[in-house]
Amino acid sequence: MIKVGITGGIGSGKTTVCKVFRIMGIPVFEADQVARQLMNSDTRVRFQLVNLFGSSVYLPDQTVDRKFLSAIVFNDPSLLSGLNSIVHPAVRNAFDAWCNNQHSLYVIQEAAILFESGFYKMMDKTIVVATDEEERVQRVMKRDGISEEQVRQRIRNQWTDEQRIKMADFVINNNDNELILPQIVEIDQKIRIHG
Ligand code: ATP
Repeated sequence: MIKVGITGGIGSGKTTVCKVFRIMGIPVFEADQVARQLMNSDTRVRFQLVNLFGSSVYLPDQTVDRKFLSAIVFNDPSLLSGLNSIVHPAVRNAFDAWCNNQHSLYVIQEAAILFESGFYKMMDKTIVVATDEEERVQRVMKRDGISEEQVRQRIRNQWTDEQRIKMADFVINNNDNELILPQIVEIDQKIRIHG
């Protein structure tokens, strides 16, 4: 089974592109969502997080306190890598188990940090959704109701499109004046023909 990773900056349109692949019958594994689920409900992950960050990493309703977590890892690279070393292997195992249940020529993993996390190494092909920063800022402000500065700060914490494109097998341009469907169909054909 061919494994295809899709990534892109905040608001680039990863989820939108994945929706189209889903409609075309391609199974999509959402790594960021699975990571959140594992932090909330996987016993081993919970145990390790409490060990590293203390019990206040969980809210009274037992869901992970993502604000607390992002605030403490933001300025401490060693805690960030500690967090990653707990969550990433769990996501990798979940992805492997999920793949074993799929019956399709290829599957997709959608991950915001596909390259930064090293997950791209598990993929046969990678796709980057690239969109100009100004459009991404407008889209995320509208979608999440947050300020321009908050969006730009998140963008500054991520890789740039240029860095991602250098690593990618395929690029989907999702600017307002571009149609994504023909680009997706072309990539689908290439994956089916060349693997
Ligand atoms: P995040 O990393 O924040 O999860 P994402 O890369 O998954 O973002 P989407 O949620 O797919 O991005 O898209 C961001 C917003 O932009 C959404 O509200 C989506 O509906 C909108 N959007 C995506 N593509 C387009 C487009 N081509 N034209 C207009 N709006 C778009």
